[in-house]
Amino acid sequence: MPLGEFELIARYFSCPAKRAALGGGDDCALLAPAPGMQLATSCDMLVEGRHFLSTVAPDRLGHKALAVNLSDLAACGAAPLAFTLALAMPRADEAWLEGFSRGLLALADAHACELVGGDTTQGPLNICISVFGEVPAGQALLRSGARARDDLYVSGTLGDARLALEAFRGTLDLSGETLAKVRVAMELPQPRVALGIALRGVATSAIDVSDGLLGDLAHLLRRSGVGVRLDVDALPRSAQLAAQPLAVQRECTLAGGDDYELLFTAPASRATAVRVAAAAVGVAVSRIGGIEPEPGLRLIDAHGGSVADVWGSFDHFRS
Ligand code: ADP
Ligand code: MG
Repeated sequence: MPLGEFELIARYFSCPAKRAALGGGDDCALLAPAPGMQLATSCDMLVEGRHFLSTVAPDRLGHKALAVNLSDLAACGAAPLAFTLALAMPRADEAWLEGFSRGLLALADAHACELVGGDTTQGPLNICISVFGEVPAGQALLRSGARARDDLYVSGTLGDARLALEAFRGTLDLSGETLAKVRVAMELPQPRVALGIALRGVATSAIDVSDGLLGDLAHLLRRSGVGVRLDVDALPRSAQLAAQPLAVQRECTLAGGDDYELLFTAPASRATAVRVAAAAVGVAVSRIGGIEPEPGLRLIDAHGGSVADVWGSFDHFRS
């Protein structure tokens, strides 16, 4: 007997409410953000073939589905509260459900983000999560706050997920050891939630890098009405990526996608506060450029020479 919809929900996706006023099982869940807090919410969908490969292990897929949503809360400086899960799958495969829910709920627990409801239906594999967080009223980090003369920073390293994707596509060859490392970056991104919270009151703007640095940077610049001088050689990259040809390094760091690092700005006078915030949460941050009043992206190399932007950004309806 295949597992029915309600048994499936009860077995894999039912969690007792902790902070939520009412968890799953009713028509709505009830959330109670603390007084003085604003509710932050975001929604991200993962479609097989588009956002993940069929080769990904179900527990890693569960992790990533929530990680990409938590990354949006991180970019706003919001603390996670809860999430809902809308899941379409071709059949109720218990081995898959066990792995998926285990990976999903492990990351949820790590961030005290409760599963409070969802929707379950038969159909092509598709995972849609809505996440809810809280941030002190008026303190959310926005894309629109960058100002001329701010410094531009990025957390962690860029490009490993793209390097892994290219290896899976067969466009480049990696050793088994290198592939295992970059595959972790692609399949198990770590959302920078603690960094986002630590940057409240320090960063002037922020966005998470999901579609490639240049594309996401362009969104931040447009919303802020400013431009940037970006040092392409200052972009932080792993030892694995640094061992690749320069063209591959640039493609992966500038246009990679799936990085889930925070890109943010802060006034030069807050440089120490940025370092302190990053050190407090144990995440590396690198200064990668400077905000300028004239709109546009100006790419320079380590010698100050200009670098042509041949990468463009990712657009789901153009690629
Ligand atoms: P409704 O008919 O009111 O939309 P459903 O029958 O779809 O409710 O779901 C029953 C309960 O199970 C609801 O509380 C819903 O939030 C929860 N639920 C459904 N699917 C999931 C899921 N994938 N994960 C967590 N909770 C779920
Ligand atoms: Mg209902």
